[in-house]
Amino acid sequence: MRRMVLECLWQSHRAIGAYDLIRIMEARLGRQLSPPSVYRALDFLLEQGLVSRLETMNAFVPSAHPDHHHACVFFICEHCGSSAEVENAKLESLLSRDAAALGFRVDRRVVELQGLCAHCVSAELGAN
Ligand SMILES: [Zn+2]
Ligand SMILES: [Zn+2]
Repeated sequence: MRRMVLECLWQSHRAIGAYDLIRIMEARLGRQLSPPSVYRALDFLLEQGLVSRLETMNAFVPSAHPDHHHACVFFICEHCGSSAEVENAKLESLLSRDAAALGFRVDRRVVELQGLCAHCVSAELGAN
């Protein structure tokens, strides 16, 4: 189940919501799945850092850096749904410094930017 979830995410070029993921897997298997089993697989993959959740999209993508736990920045294309995951050490240290200045303990952070990816920007320019 975990492997299949990961495969579906890898094969998609856009982030997939849990509901669509279940439908894709059911189509592939030719039978119904119990949603909780898919959610459990997703939770496991999230915990392991193999999958990332795009909070603003409520959707999932394979992690670009599965080998280490880190906080990444996501650039999400609103047109084609693709996303790019970038590590930004500078932003990281700025945020840590601000948190330290406030005496704030960060439990969770979400940095997501929405717009158009390079491909969609050039397609848009080409159309004009
Ligand atoms: Zn990353
Ligand atoms: Zn795009």
